[in-house]
Amino acid sequence: MRPFEPLERGRVGMYNCGPTVYDRQHIGNLYSYVVVDVLRRTLEYFDLGVKQVMNITDVGHIVDDADAGVDKMAIGAERAGKTPLQIADAYTRLFMADRHRLNILDPQVVPKATDHIPEMIALIERLIAKGNAYVAADGVYFDVTTFPGYGTRLNAEAPDQRIAGARVEVNENKRHPNDFALWRRAKAGDLQQWDSPWGRGNPGWHIECSAMSMKYLGETFDLHSGGEDHLFPHHECEIAQSEAATGKPFVRYWVHVRFLRVDSEKMAKSKGGFLTLDDVVAWGYDPLAFRLLALGAGYRTGLDFTREGMNAAQSRLERWRRTIGAAYAATKGRVAEPEGEHAITSEFRAALADDVNTPKALAAAEKALALAAISDTDEQERALWMLFDMDRVLGLSLRDAAATTDELAADERALFDQREGARRSGDYAKSDELRKELLERYGIQVKDTKDGTRWERVGRKGA
Ligand SMILES: [Zn+2]
Repeated sequence: MRPFEPLERGRVGMYNCGPTVYDRQHIGNLYSYVVVDVLRRTLEYFDLGVKQVMNITDVGHIVDDADAGVDKMAIGAERAGKTPLQIADAYTRLFMADRHRLNILDPQVVPKATDHIPEMIALIERLIAKGNAYVAADGVYFDVTTFPGYGTRLNAEAPDQRIAGARVEVNENKRHPNDFALWRRAKAGDLQQWDSPWGRGNPGWHIECSAMSMKYLGETFDLHSGGEDHLFPHHECEIAQSEAATGKPFVRYWVHVRFLRVDSEKMAKSKGGFLTLDDVVAWGYDPLAFRLLALGAGYRTGLDFTREGMNAAQSRLERWRRTIGAAYAATKGRVAEPEGEHAITSEFRAALADDVNTPKALAAAEKALALAAISDTDEQERALWMLFDMDRVLGLSLRDAAATTDELAADERALFDQREGARRSGDYAKSDELRKELLERYGIQVKDTKDGTRWERVGRKGA
């Protein structure tokens, strides 16, 4: 383990391998984006400016990731009787909606592979010019013998075995069985194809990520994430082709998220039958309970998804909301920053600084909740401040929990009733005045609807 130091002081460039949008994303994929979101929020919490880039793979790379097999986008398109781009748009929208339900922040740049074909072609031309790639009868290949240490950079565990064990396409056009495709010449019936110096065709998957990440983050950047299945070949191929082309280090830190397991088994999209966030919601869970479940597992250990685990996460979330709602009502919407850094906040920061240890960070949050539950408004005000501060990383919408508490304190109720009286007797000037007072004094927004008067806590200014 080594400390994280960005290339440029105070700024972090981060690239996340995005989804191939030929289908819904299952909760295993969503889990990996929750992890990445928490990482981004953690960096921001520590006052680093993060530029986050996540690609959308809307070019059909192959199903088994070993340059063989069927085009994923074509499968999706055929299934739905639509064009690949229609499919990609529809599933991209669903994916982004799922992310939003999980409070995953939008990356600043979300490049689509189909918008970056010229960048990929330029990178392939660079590799050919440098002698790292060659043109064959059916496309362009990266020559792995020109990149010492190919396939061994990310994981010291028996790299030779891993490479030998990976399935490779038997293809006489390749000089070496491990050579991987940068460009594939179009086959009859390919739905997606573009002109290139090597004839019509489509790009390899790995080259997409190298071209797009370097375009938006530079030839060397700080963080690159993906699932553990991306370690090899995808990320090793990205390293080989990027560093061969630029002669510079490609990525300073890699993050690989362990798989989510459902009842102890790996859930794989290519096997069919997988769980979506809609399934989780249909079972009666709040999407944020899934987020809380993910926070309760470290990214290095991976997440075990079980109904028991979800039940516990749902109850935990509800307990947090109740406690915060009650504390917020007791303090009448006041929160107060503790003088100096509170021990609980220090504990929270230390947990995050320790390789983003979210289970420990949640333990610190529980201490703040315990403080919020005692009947001392000074302590409660401080506890709420700490919880809302932590929520910048946790992303559990804890402020909403506070604002939706359905009880008015006695003095709030008195003012509210007084205003109702004024309105009913037709004294609209008085009624407006009291409405303003409710907002300014208690942070309560009153609305008159045809179903009667409604109110919600929106918080006082500066609260
Ligand atoms: Zn990628």
